[in-house]
Amino acid sequence: MRVVVCGAGIGGLSLAHALSRHVEVVVVERDVTAADTGGYRISIDDEACRALGRLLPGALLDEVRSLSDTGSAFEQFTIADSRLRPIVVAPEPAGQDRILAQRQLLRVLLARDITATIRFGSTVRAVSQDQYGAAVTLTDGSVIEGDLVVAADGADSAVVASILGRSPTRDLGLTGIAGWTPLSDASPPGYLRRGPALAFGPDGTGVFLSLHHPPATPTADPLIAGLLGEPALIWGTITRSSRLTPTRDAAAEALVHQATTLLDRWSPWLRERVSHSDASRTAAFRFRAVDPAGPIAGWTPGVVTALGDAIHAMPPTGGRGASTAICDAADLARAVDDHLQGAPLDQVLARYQRRIVPRARSAVRDSLGPVRVINALRHRPARLLARPVLNAAGALGAWRYRDAR
Ligand SMILES: Cc1cc2nc3c(=O)[nH]c(=O)nc-3n(C[C@H](O)[C@H](O)[C@H](O)COP(=O)(O)OP(=O)(O)OC[C@H]3O[C@@H](n4cnc5c(N)ncnc54)[C@H](O)[C@@H]3O)c2cc1C
Repeated sequence: MRVVVCGAGIGGLSLAHALSRHVEVVVVERDVTAADTGGYRISIDDEACRALGRLLPGALLDEVRSLSDTGSAFEQFTIADSRLRPIVVAPEPAGQDRILAQRQLLRVLLARDITATIRFGSTVRAVSQDQYGAAVTLTDGSVIEGDLVVAADGADSAVVASILGRSPTRDLGLTGIAGWTPLSDASPPGYLRRGPALAFGPDGTGVFLSLHHPPATPTADPLIAGLLGEPALIWGTITRSSRLTPTRDAAAEALVHQATTLLDRWSPWLRERVSHSDASRTAAFRFRAVDPAGPIAGWTPGVVTALGDAIHAMPPTGGRGASTAICDAADLARAVDDHLQGAPLDQVLARYQRRIVPRARSAVRDSLGPVRVINALRHRPARLLARPVLNAAGALGAWRYRDAR
């Protein structure tokens, strides 16, 4: 059996590790190297840590853990105002496993020592299928055939669009700029030492903040040592796309400048840190999401299925996208195992596509909650009430999706 995985992101690479124990796996990725990705940090939750335990070789997972922060760096989540004064501090449940991984590093580790073939610098244009298998056409015109094709190509997936005839996600009208600032000379607000924070400004701009602590154990690999870097503030602004000059293909220095301008009336400490960011680690991305009340993975599977953001994109505001993609990968690996034991492929894929829906809907709903607050704050009456609105939203746990437009 040959499986073609479109996309060497978090979900695609996790799946490729598990499948390549039993079948031939080809991963197709448009980036030129595994390190070509945003430098922000992703939080992998308890369920996804268990899923990684099933997907990855034990030594690789141990290495990921040893180079990442763990639960002790995420004891609480703080909602703050634009002066970085805490409004609500929500403790995280105790006893949960957690990996806080630097995204570039995680991807480099997942792509290293993998048995699957990874074809970097290859962009998928379309996928077709018939009763004999599927064919992936790349933008250079070449075709890769497989018995199963998995769309793991993230939000705005070309593969899913080619089987549905449309994108399952919509642009939420918000753009994030994420960056990284070395923190050697400046002490951050105390609550950041106990976990990340999301700060809201009265103009509807939001900023994610978290601290990066490189591990105490030195590493001999210069690429990994370079990615781990020094203690840093990881920040990410969220604002309406219409407030920014186009960010697509913008130079990293221009993104830092735009982010700094957005924070004109924010905490001077934060503005100063953002203005001194490492431009090489700054990236912009548009927020996309599926409608959590609409169909998710609703197509009848033949030999093409999908995982992660490709089917249920969500904004990063819930910190759930990578964890959900990893859990999907574990469920899909189990479905392929069942097929290898004799169950028909279309049946195991249909079961897989039904199984992942409740988890995806709940993650998308949670992730859209802060987007709703940001959108509410752009209206003048809500701006005047910004602090009481935020207090109420945080205290009532009101990160519930109703209408993210
Ligand atoms: C700033 C930020 C912070 C985040 N924080 C968190 C967090 O704390 N916790 C969390 O769980 N999630 C977080 N996320 C979300 C998380 O990164 C994504 O949800 C997750 O990576 C989705 O995994 P995936 O495998 O589905 O897609 P991705 O990891 O996005 O991978 C998709 C891959 O497909 C490739 N690709 C795309 N199109 C093509 C094509 N046509 N041909 C070939 N290759 C293609 C892309 O280059 C990419 O490598 C964050 C996201 C952002 C932007």
